[in-house]
Order: sequence, then C-alpha cells, then structure tokens
Amino acid sequence: MAKPTGFLEYVRQEAPKRPVSQRVEDWREVEGRLPEAALRERAARCMDCGIPFCHAFGCPLANRVPEFNEMVWRGDWERALEFLHATNNFPEITGRVCPAPCEAACTLSIGAEAVTIRQIELAVAERGWRDGLIHPEPAPHRTGRRVAVVGSGPAGLAAAQQLARAGHETVVFERHDRAGGILRYGIPDFKLEKWVLDRRLDQMRAEGVAFETAVAVGEDVSMRYLARKFDAVLLAVGAEQPRDLPIPGRGLEGIHFAMDFLVQQNRRVAGEDVPREDAIRAGGKQVVVLGGGDTGSDCVGTARRQGAAGITQVELLPEPPAERLPDCPWPAWPTVKRTSTSHEEGCRRLWSVMTKEFIGRGGIDVRGLRCVRIAWSVPDAAGRRTFEEVPDSEFTLEADLALLALGFAHLRHGPMVTEADLARDDRGNLKVDARGMTSREGVFAASDCVHGASLVVRAIAAGRLAAGNINDYLKGHDE
Ligand SMILES: Cc1cc2nc3c(=O)[nH]c(=O)nc-3n(C[C@H](O)[C@H](O)[C@H](O)COP(=O)(O)OP(=O)(O)OC[C@H]3O[C@@H](n4cnc5c(N)ncnc54)[C@H](O)[C@@H]3O)c2cc1C
Ligand code: SF4
Repeated sequence: MAKPTGFLEYVRQEAPKRPVSQRVEDWREVEGRLPEAALRERAARCMDCGIPFCHAFGCPLANRVPEFNEMVWRGDWERALEFLHATNNFPEITGRVCPAPCEAACTLSIGAEAVTIRQIELAVAERGWRDGLIHPEPAPHRTGRRVAVVGSGPAGLAAAQQLARAGHETVVFERHDRAGGILRYGIPDFKLEKWVLDRRLDQMRAEGVAFETAVAVGEDVSMRYLARKFDAVLLAVGAEQPRDLPIPGRGLEGIHFAMDFLVQQNRRVAGEDVPREDAIRAGGKQVVVLGGGDTGSDCVGTARRQGAAGITQVELLPEPPAERLPDCPWPAWPTVKRTSTSHEEGCRRLWSVMTKEFIGRGGIDVRGLRCVRIAWSVPDAAGRRTFEEVPDSEFTLEADLALLALGFAHLRHGPMVTEADLARDDRGNLKVDARGMTSREGVFAASDCVHGASLVVRAIAAGRLAAGNINDYLKGHDE
C-alpha cells in the first residue's frame, strides 16, 4: 500500500500548463510536470482499495496502477517502471494523450478527486528514459518465423514490439513516409511532440523491427506477396474513412476534412513539405469546426496557433452536464463536459446545432453555414434519443474555413481489402474470429480497423492481444 493516510492528507494536484499567451505562439507541448516531491504525494493518495477498478475496469491495458503508485510513493522508480512496462509498451505516450478512463474508475473518486494516474504514469516513464532504464530488449533467440505488420499506429507498433521480442522477424509496412500512424500524423505536437515517438522507434529498430515506410499494401505490394513471404500478417490500418456531411454547398472551396488540416500542420512542424497549392491555412480566417470531439478540439488548437480570426466549434449533441449523472454511475466513463487545453485557448462552443447548408461566396468559396437549433428527446429504454428542429431558430455562422471533424466510418476500403476479399461487418470494419483472424488464413486484424475509431490505449491493448494470438498461431504451426 502507498501510504495508509495519504488520501486524507493530500489533495489532487494537476500538472502545470504553460500560460495560454505563451503556448499559442509555438507547437510545443502544453502540459508541464509536477516536481518529484509533489508527485510522490499524489501517488500516496492511492488507497489500495482492495478491488482496483482503475486496473481491472478502467484501464484497457489493465495497467497495474496500485502497484506503480506504491513504488512511486516509496521512491522506487525502477520497480514502478517494471510494473508499467509489464502491460504497456508506450507509457510515455499514454501518459501524454490518454483521457485516463482509469481515473474515472478510481475508488477515491466516489467521494473525492481521483488519483492523478496519468501524470504519475508519465513521470515514471520519463524518469526511466532519463535514468537510462529503458533500453532495447532484443529477443534472446530467433524463431525463424516472419510476421508482416501493416500500419504503424499504436496498435501496429505495440504488436511489432511484442512480436520482435518473442523472436519473430517483424517488418512493419507503412503507407506514410514516417512511422507512427495518428501519433505522428493526426495528434498535434502541442499534445505529443514527435521526438517522444522517435525515441521508441529507435528502441524498436534496435530490437530488430524493420520499417518499410512509403509502402502502401494493396498498391505498392500486394497482399498475395505478403502471404507468400510471411508466416502471418497483421492488419492494423486504422479507421481512416472520415464521415462526410453531404449537404448543399459541400463542394465549395474552403471545406476540408479535419485530418487533411491536422496532418499538414504535423508535416510543417516536422519540416516536411506541404505543396503550396494544397495548403489549408486558418490564419486571419473565421473557422468553424464541425464536431465536438477530440479531433475537433485538435483543430481548434491548431487553428488558434495558425492565427485564426475566430473559431467556433459546433456539435449536434446537447451540452453535456458538468458532473457525472446518476444514470452513469461510477466506475463507468462519464459523459461530462470536457474542456481541453485547446478550448482554454479561446473558441466559441455551440451544442444542439445542426448544419443545413454551406453558403458560398460567388458560388466558389465558403462564406458561412446555415444552421438550426435542435431539441433532443429524453433517451428511451435503449438510451436512444431523437431530435427535432426548434421552430424559427435558424441562424448563419460566418466561415472562411470549415473543418469536418465528424468521426470516422471505418477503415478505407481500398485495394488491400478488395484484393484479399476480406470479410467486413455491417459497419464496414474488418471481421475477425475469436483469435483475431480475418476471413483469410494467417491474416489477423486489430484495433480501429476492427472495432472502429477509439483511443491510443485501446490500440496498444489490441496490438498486444494480436501479437499474443499470432504467437499462438505460429506455435500451433510448429507442432
Ligand atoms: C486527430 C486525432 C486525435 C486523437 N487524439 C487522441 C488522444 O488525444 N488520445 C487518444 O487516446 N486517442 C486519440 N485519438 C485516437 C487514436 O489516435 C486512434 O484510436 C489510434 O491511433 C488508432 O491506432 P491504430 O494503430 O489502430 O491506427 P492508426 O493510428 O490510424 O494507424 C494506422 C496506420 O496504418 C497505415 N495504413 C493504412 N492503410 C495502409 C496500407 N494499405 N498500407 C500501409 N499502411 C497503411 C496508416 O497510414 C496509419 O499510419 C485521436 C485520433 C485523431 C484522428
Ligand atoms: S493507459 Fe490510460 S487508462 Fe491506463 S492507467 Fe494509463 S492513463 Fe489510465
């Protein structure tokens, strides 16, 4: 146990954030770190409650939260790191970007504020890097089996690291010219600076993982080729098909998918080229972000740093409550209003608003959105709600740039899927059996391309599970 009376003595303390006026001038991470003494007190708040819901229910990786909290309180950072790495390949990444469902499930949060688990996780991981405790862990012997991993997001990377450490020759194929998936191209640098990712990729290379970047499977190499050259294939290709908004005016200039906007900025920060004719810029513009989720929030922070004149984020759903409602009891993940660091930097947020039409300037460029307020019904027994337009509530929002952050439908149904004729479910995701295998023998799939767009922590968990399944499959073939 950390400290028997810790939760009575110490209160929750958040990590410091750089002042808004300073951070909007650059692309560096917003969140700072608590000093060591303060962190140890935060860890001491862990009650060792007996049934750690944070670990068993909240964290998709089943991180051993009470154990690493205790070690941090005792000052045994090395042991804390061992506990973390036992379940999580990239704690310095989840420590930065995880929404921390573990904290929503923390027993202390029933009557007080949750333990700051994410911050402690990040501190343990960063200290491990600083003190040279994290180094390559190559497999002691090779199995002679070859595995291809398609996609280098958190799922593909976690799977590849596990497979290489199990002794399999592992090659990661990635369509983009650099590895990382949404960690590299999607999540802004102000949430996750890319040297954090590069440091892990170096570790993986030293463990024997090979990266074939700028190779699109299904286009540059066929699935048939992979099936011939590898003993197993894992598809971890993400859910890249963005949801569109097919309303009048959609074809106007200045309406873009959020990812096109975000990826360009990741490239600029990395010093990569963005062709001038394709550039999407928010500087000096009235920006409207459609979609109130994380991707939308990332667009807000990016537009702010690019110097937008004004930013409005529009959401179809009603404004969530400030606190957990009785119909969403602990330890479930609560639907509450979340204010991100990007929101703090300045943006107007509208809820219960439906966009009916994009309005054009001279029929070419977008100049506004015709919107209407909507009223939601109370949920039915299955939790479903309907809405209707509020009479006479139409209004127009000014917009020189509209960004669609409406979520993702499913994986891209490109040549890779069609060539291999992979079975899909009714939502368009890849269908897998209990072993995580697709309709093709030896071809596995995991993460967002199977269960739909989700979280980094779930992607890492899915990658680790897939690596275990592939390991079992290869062993089965040895016998
Ligand atoms: C803008 C944005 C911000 C987000 N912020 C957060 C956050 O703060 N916290 C959080 O927990 N989650 C966040 N998420 C969600 C999280 O990033 C994803 O759930 C996670 O990255 C999914 O991991 P994955 O490995 O399944 O796929 P991805 O990360 O999508 O990676 C898939 C990879 O496969 C590659 N690929 C696809 N097809 C092929 C092919 N045919 N050949 C070769 N390569 C291919 C793609 O190029 C890509 O690199 C965010 C998502 C977005 C879009
Ligand atoms: S990975 Fe996320 S859910 Fe799991 S312990 Fe860390 S912050 Fe919590």
